[in-house]
Parts: sequence; structure tokens; C-alpha cells
Amino acid sequence: MTEPQHAAPRCLVCERTSDEVALIPVRYAGNDHYICAPHLPILIHRPEQLADRLPGAERFGPSAEH
Ligand SMILES: [Zn+2]
Repeated sequence: MTEPQHAAPRCLVCERTSDEVALIPVRYAGNDHYICAPHLPILIHRPEQLADRLPGAERFGPSAEH
């Protein structure tokens, strides 16, 4: 599901807003997303867990073999 984010920025994972946590902007595929600091490691290490929110995120992992 890819819904435009009209509302306040929320973490991709926990959907908390910047009222509750520090949000880090993530620009991807021309869209702005946000992820909170506690969940940043997911974006780095387990991006496939975000694939339903960031289509193609499962490919973010460490560069595979060429
Ligand atoms: Zn979060």
C-alpha cells in the first residue's frame, strides 16, 4: 500500500510523530518518508521489513554481487 502522506510525518515503523520521537527524513523514489531514531537500524539492516511501506525496500540491503 502506498498512500500519500498528507498528515504529520510519522515513523515508517511505529507511526509515532515528531511530537513523540526524533524523526529522520528518508527520501526515496521521489517521496519523503520519516523514520524514528530507534527504528533507523531497521532501515539499515532489515530494510525488507519496510517493503510494504517502501516498495522495493527489500533491495536496499548491502550491495549484492554484480
Ligand atoms: Zn519508529
